[in-house]
Amino acid sequence: MDDQARDDCGTEPRVAAVVFRVSLCRSCGTGLPQNAAYCPGCGRSTQPPPPAEALAGLMLATAGLMLLLSAAAKRAGRA
Ligand SMILES: [Zn+2]
Repeated sequence: MDDQARDDCGTEPRVAAVVFRVSLCRSCGTGLPQNAAYCPGCGRSTQPPPPAEALAGLMLATAGLMLLLSAAAKRAGRA
């Protein structure tokens, strides 16, 4: 009988924690406003440097292209 009422009372509404993802400057540690392109403290760009993976992928693509070109050159020389 009381079970249903207890259930209703027991569940407190969860306070939705609105989390503002405040990022800090990697150079000086100043809190950066949202969508800030540059740090207001030291003026450095807040954009992270390109990851090494992207660079590695670019190098791999270049190497593949070179291989393709050399193979084509060999074929052309043979013919
Ligand atoms: Zn800074």
